[in-house]
Amino acid sequence: MTDVLASAEVRTMRNFVGGRWVPSTGLDTLLSRDPSDGSALARVPLSAPDDVDEGIAAAAAALPSWRAVSVLVRARALFAFRATLDAAREDLAQLVSTDMGKTLDDARGEVNRGIESVEAACAAPHLLKGETLEGVGGGVDVEMVRQPVGVVAAITPFNFPAMIPLWFVPYAIACGNTVVLKPSERDPLASERIVQLAEGIFPPGVLNLVHGDRSVVDHLLEHPGVDAVSFVGSASVARHVYSRAAAAGKRVQALGGAKNAMVVMPDADPSVTAAGIASSAFGAAGQRCLAGSVAVLVGSREEQDASLEVIVEAARSAEISPMVDVAARERVESAVDDAAREGVPILVDGRCSGGTGGAELRPTVVEPGDPDSRLVREELFGPVLSIVRADTLADAILWMNAGRYGNAAVIFTRSGAAAREFRATVEAGMLGVNVGVAAPVAWFPFSGWKDSMAGDLHANGADAIEFFTRKKVVTSRW
Ligand code: NAD
Repeated sequence: MTDVLASAEVRTMRNFVGGRWVPSTGLDTLLSRDPSDGSALARVPLSAPDDVDEGIAAAAAALPSWRAVSVLVRARALFAFRATLDAAREDLAQLVSTDMGKTLDDARGEVNRGIESVEAACAAPHLLKGETLEGVGGGVDVEMVRQPVGVVAAITPFNFPAMIPLWFVPYAIACGNTVVLKPSERDPLASERIVQLAEGIFPPGVLNLVHGDRSVVDHLLEHPGVDAVSFVGSASVARHVYSRAAAAGKRVQALGGAKNAMVVMPDADPSVTAAGIASSAFGAAGQRCLAGSVAVLVGSREEQDASLEVIVEAARSAEISPMVDVAARERVESAVDDAAREGVPILVDGRCSGGTGGAELRPTVVEPGDPDSRLVREELFGPVLSIVRADTLADAILWMNAGRYGNAAVIFTRSGAAAREFRATVEAGMLGVNVGVAAPVAWFPFSGWKDSMAGDLHANGADAIEFFTRKKVVTSRW
């Protein structure tokens, strides 16, 4: 079947507003494709401002009654949501894998992580407890209670199409807020399924879905009906979202891009290093915000070369999955082409003309001579690992801390002292010690620093409760 026919036959997705699936009034659509073979999956509507207004109005209308529902009842709704997600695990993982391109196993892991966030948010009655201080004056007591912020806009990226919506939706709803979810226009099928699973569990208007691209985002950021914005995406868009929404008086958390280093000490266990680097640098075709995209080899030249051999072997045997689309593959591959033209040694060359669906780039390892070149310092978001060398751990950390991002950093070592120095001095929010992908479980915040995060409160854990509530302090005299 040709693309033209395929695209003529695919359905157009709908928005979910006030408990009803409604067509967007926007005239334009994008085609979401399966990156493994290029086949068309669905047309994604680019919603018009009126559609966004309706989503916000539905969320605002549902807010007074939802925030008045007992927190125990809200938590029970989350337990029910968790049960439907659990029953649909495999279905969701299939959708993630088909729409985004990651392997089915990887997609299962993603869905599992998303469900973990729902489980953590089920503890809302405990997490929402306030504070009291008795007797601050004669007959005077003080209490602090937490109340919802209001209408939350959740704006999510393509690379974790199930997990990241589930970072925000459950906590926001548990805290008594209502939500307008704007998923990535590149792979929105998992979000649609999640909202279908929530249908009938949360009252109409508590969770709304509006498809679209940057114009929908900008409308959400400016709209007076939105009280808080939870965003995940690239660093430049995170900065834009943060400044625009903050200027409009909203509470904002904007998680951005990354360039994560993995330090390999000479004493590292080679098999642990190989497994950790293969999964971190090349899993999901390098499209994770926690992907290690630079390996910093520490030690003498011989020790560095021994580590490099382990890495090259790991790259050759790493799993392969397509990137999210042909454009993403072309963008990353052209950076590799440029590097090759400039004489950068390509130690493992994963260029393969895009594979079957045109979106494939296999694990690639390069060793740019300049450790401060764009290739090494800037996010590429593909399966390309740069090699950097350092004589000592202190040198490695100095180099790492000079970078602008601070999402994650990893060390492979058998030395407790090295791990301790790393933990104490590295300027990044999520560290791994002999762990390639240092993703915190949902009871902890997802803690990027520097240009990897704009805002004060992170996603998940106690930060999520802080973000999705406003504190009210009552001083009483009796
Ligand atoms: P992206 O920034 O292109 O898009 C994210 C969202 O913003 C999408 O919903 C998109 O529609 C919207 N958007 C895109 N451009 C916009 C613009 N100019 N103005 C307003 N809205 C806009 O990100 P992506 O490519 O979908 O996702 C990958 C990026 O996300 C990577 O940089 C990755 O590191 C980052 N990421 C970060 C984390 C984290 O926790 N820090 C987690 C996952 C992904």
